[in-house]
Formats: sequence, structure tokens, C-alpha cells
Amino acid sequence: MIYAYCFMIGACSGSFVYAATWRYLRKIDFVHGRSSCPICHHKLAWYDLIPIISWIWLRGKCRYCKTSISIAYMLYELGIAIAALLCAFAYGITIEAACVFIMILILISMAIIDRATMVIPDGLQLLLIIPIGILTLISPEMSLTHHLLGAVSISGFMALMNRLVRDSFGGGDVKLMYLCGWALGWRRIVLAALIAVWTAGIYVIYLIWAKHVQRKTHIAFAPYLCAGIIFSLYADHWFLLML
Ligand SMILES: [Zn+2]
Repeated sequence: MIYAYCFMIGACSGSFVYAATWRYLRKIDFVHGRSSCPICHHKLAWYDLIPIISWIWLRGKCRYCKTSISIAYMLYELGIAIAALLCAFAYGITIEAACVFIMILILISMAIIDRATMVIPDGLQLLLIIPIGILTLISPEMSLTHHLLGAVSISGFMALMNRLVRDSFGGGDVKLMYLCGWALGWRRIVLAALIAVWTAGIYVIYLIWAKHVQRKTHIAFAPYLCAGIIFSLYADHWFLLML
């Protein structure tokens, strides 16, 4: 039963964060504005906005104008609901689990915005400090050295690379790896960076293969960093134990 609650909370917060990110990208007031269909602009009722269920019930169409709503929207809510469940399984029903889940929500929002604009908003980096600060206070088993090494190991390398080759990494990426490195410690932030490099590498190979890329093309790196960090947040609980 408690896991069903976690799933529901996950789906609702996923829906909220997606809507807030979507409005941020279109510069719409995301605190006061009411949700409406982007095509027919009909205001949506509460029963049109039930995460996952509304999409399935309406068979992926707007109730009013019958325009198709992307399945990505529903998969996004489902993905975040599963992320919430995994947090509960990995960390139990604890404040730690809630902080990790909030970190994941912020990271996903950062990834979407960076992919669209190539910039991670500083506001989201500041917001990330809250769950990371609480995690640092409530789980004192990680030593200060471990936190500091985590903070500088990848961000320091990226800053150095920026010195050698201008604009190799965005400033936002460096700040992100500093903050998350502090939270994860050096072992898990290195794992996160490796996953980011591998997945981004596979994507670049695909782009070259599909001839979508020129030599000077930049890709948004934050989505890969965020994916690596999210994987690493669960890593100690499952994946590293298997090694
Ligand atoms: Zn509509």
C-alpha cells in the first residue's frame, strides 16, 4: 500500500515538474496559469489532468479538439513514478529517499531545459542545494574528505579542460558536477561521469553515422550527466553490489 502511495506521489510530481518545465521553456507563468490544451487552448478540468490515467482514458487525445497528445508525456509521468518507487525500495520510506527523489526531479528538469536551450538555469542549481544540504546533514557516514573529493574530482577536471580547450564544457555542467559530486562522493560521481561519456559518445557516433553533425557541432551534455547521476544515486544499492 505504501508503495502504491509512492507511485502516485511520483506520477503527480512528475506531471507537475513536466508542466512547470514546459511552461518555463515557453516563458508562461507556471505558478498562476491554469493548464490548457496547447492546440485548442481549452482549459483542462481536474479529471483531464490525472497522471497516466487521463492519457490512457482519453486514448492519447485532447477531450475537446481530439488532437493527439504525445505518448512521451505519459511515459514521462510513468518513468518518474517508477523512479519514486525505486527510491522507496533503495532508501526505504525515509527523508533520505525524499531528498534523492527531489534531486532526481530537479535533474530531469535540468536535462530537458539544457537539451532545449543549451543552458542550465542557475535557479535550478540553487534549488539542488536544498536536498543535497539535507542529505549531508542526515547521513553523516560520508567523511568531509569524501565529499570534497567528490565535489572537485570531475568538476575540477572539466574546469581544467575548459582552460585548455575553450568551451569544451558549459559552466552549468561544471557547477552541476561540483554540487552532485559533493552529494555522491568521488566514487559515484566518477561512475556518473563515465556513464555520461559513454552514452553521449554512443549518441555522437549515431549522429556521425546518420550524417546529422558537423565538426563544430556542440551537443547538450547535461542530459547525459543527469542520467549518469541518477544511475549513480541508485548504484550503491544494487548495481555496485553485483560487481
Ligand atoms: Zn485541445
